Amino acid sequence: MPTPAAPARPLTAAARATVLSKVHGEGDTRVTALDAVSVEFDRGRFTAIMGPSGSGKSTLLHCLAGLDTATAGSVRIGDTELTGLTDRQLTRLRRERIGFVFQAFNLLPTLTALENITLPTAIGGGRPDARWLERVVGAVGLSGRLGHRPAQLSGGQQQRVAVARALASRPEIVFADEPTGNLDSRSGAEVLGLLRDSVRELGQTVVMVTHDPVAAAHADRVVFLADGRLTDELRAPTAEGVLERMRRFDTEPRSS
Ligand code: ADP
Ligand code: MG
Repeated sequence: MPTPAAPARPLTAAARATVLSKVHGEGDTRVTALDAVSVEFDRGRFTAIMGPSGSGKSTLLHCLAGLDTATAGSVRIGDTELTGLTDRQLTRLRRERIGFVFQAFNLLPTLTALENITLPTAIGGGRPDARWLERVVGAVGLSGRLGHRPAQLSGGQQQRVAVARALASRPEIVFADEPTGNLDSRSGAEVLGLLRDSVRELGQTVVMVTHDPVAAAHADRVVFLADGRLTDELRAPTAEGVLERMRRFDTEPRSS
C-alpha cells in the first residue's frame, strides 16, 4: 500500500469530551459511569482507552460516538457539537462520519464478507470511493475469501471484515470497543495490526477500548479511566509500561 502524504496539522481534535458526565439509573440504582471527563483525540492517531471493568470505558465510547447521550458536559466530533442534535441529525452523523467496531463482530450472516463491507455505505446513499475501498479491502488481507459468509470465516477474519466495514465510508473517526475481546491472541494481533495500519497507512483516526496491555501497546497513546474519571495517560506505550501504570492504580487486568 502506498503511503499517503503526511496530513496537514489539523486545528481541531477529531473528537473531544469536555467535563462529560453520565449517570445511569435513579435513587438506589444510581451509578455515575462518567464523572467530569475531559479528553481530546488527535486526528490520524491511534488512542487506546484502558481501565478496569466498570470504569466507564464503554459509556465514554458510546457517548463520543453518539450512541448514548451524556447527562452533562459536551461531546464534539470535529467542529460538531453532539449535544442538541436531533435523533435524525445524530443518525446521519453516525452514518457519515463515524465507524464503530463491536466486540461481537455484528456481521450480517446471509451476506458475503465483501457485501458486509460495502452495504452500510450503499445504504447511506453514499457512493463508496472505489479506490479507497480497494485499499481497505486490500488491507484486510482476505483475498480469496471475500465471497465467503461470516460462518465460513474464523473469528479474526470476521473481525477484520468488521473493521473494513467501519473504514469503508472513510469516516472521520473509528471507535472500537474491545475489538479483540472475543479473539485468541494471534487473531487479536491481526485485528490490531489492521487497525494500526489504517492509522499509519490510510491516515485514519482510531479510538479503541481494551483491558489488554498488549493490545493497548499497539496504540500511539493510552488514556486510563478509573471509577469514571480520567486518571493518567501514556504516550508511545509498551505493554510493560501499560502494566506498570495499571499496577500503580491497583487495577489489574480483568475482563469486562
Ligand atoms: P466498562 O466498559 O469500563 O466496563 P461501562 O461503561 O460499561 O464500563 O459501565 C460503567 C458503569 O456504569 C458500571 O458501573 C456499569 O454497571 C454502569 N452502567 C453501564 N451501562 C448501564 C446501564 N445501561 N444502566 C445502568 N448502569 C449502567
Ligand atoms: Mg465495556
